[in-house]
Amino acid sequence: MPGTHAILSASSSSRWLACPPSARINAELPETTSVYAEEGTKAHALAEKTLKDYLAGGPAEVQSDNEEMKEAVQRYVDICIEKINAAKAASPDAVVHVEFRLDFSTYVPDGFGTGDMVIVSDKSLEICDLKYGKGVPVSAEGNTQMRLYALGAVEEFGMLYGFDIVRMTIIQPRLDSVSTDTLSAGKLLDWGRSIIPVAKEAYDGKGEFQAGDHCRFCKFRPQCKALAAYMTEKTALRKKQELTDLETVSILQAAKDIKRWLTDIEDYALGKALDGYDWPGMKLVEGRSKRVITNPDAAAAALINLGFVPSAVYKPRELQTMTALEKLVGKKSLAEALGDLIEKPSGKPTLVELSDKRPPLDITAKAADAFDDSLL
Ligand code: SF4
Repeated sequence: MPGTHAILSASSSSRWLACPPSARINAELPETTSVYAEEGTKAHALAEKTLKDYLAGGPAEVQSDNEEMKEAVQRYVDICIEKINAAKAASPDAVVHVEFRLDFSTYVPDGFGTGDMVIVSDKSLEICDLKYGKGVPVSAEGNTQMRLYALGAVEEFGMLYGFDIVRMTIIQPRLDSVSTDTLSAGKLLDWGRSIIPVAKEAYDGKGEFQAGDHCRFCKFRPQCKALAAYMTEKTALRKKQELTDLETVSILQAAKDIKRWLTDIEDYALGKALDGYDWPGMKLVEGRSKRVITNPDAAAAALINLGFVPSAVYKPRELQTMTALEKLVGKKSLAEALGDLIEKPSGKPTLVELSDKRPPLDITAKAADAFDDSLL
């Protein structure tokens, strides 16, 4: 769940396990928040309330004015209830905890976090985590955040229950994604013991800087030399006149990361300049701007007064975007209400990596269509 403030938080563990010194550096940089994090916090609170009400004998319906959030949290709650019922059918002694504090400080100094839902019985232990974001699907496979939560749950319940199976599930309702990783309790404890030295190093602010995908949410990104070296290495080219295919592909694959990194540096440098910092060889200027009409009603009246017809003065009425309508009506309800009126046209051809889930584009069929059209 968002809002954990431990130096070695589970949610940032993929970063500090790979780059131990990043833990102290991030702890010392100012906290940042975003609308996405705030939305995530609200969704978690809604899920917690609904599940707790349900477990106390109440209804399992999510109550919210925000249709999109209501629908997504309902999907999460429904999956949790299925899991609760399955666990109780397999083992009537199964116990459910919602928003449960998990202490994994045996492995990670001061380490604690919150399990969104923990189901424990003599047969198995399951931790479920709600991810409200819809940016990228997060896999539970080898997920260090989930493993740390699971270690905390084993610490709490391992003595009381005889389970050997530990299941870790990430539910991302807005991406229709449910991902589970399963480990034996023994394997999980082995992993926990293996990270103790790295966690200690991270806690002490020691270790080697190591850049990689985990840098994505590091607050030190715009200032980090290790990341700058990593980004420039991504496009390190051999001394030849023409790029090889492999070099072109490596640039294409790195482009998204490099663009994001450049934007981070621009934002960071602009922020400091606005605070009065003088960057050598740079200056702060006013950006380009467009003229605006300060009072659209008065402007329209003046033009109609001059004899222009309203249909020429005003833009045609426009429907809200799909995202705005989904927020208003809810994803499922909008699909039901509009049915065939919703169409998904073909997307623009895009080059992606082979691991992408979308099927390859049939360019021969496209070329044949274009040829047929040209004969018409
Ligand atoms: S940006 Fe630098 S400090 Fe942060 S995780 Fe990457 S390498 Fe480590």
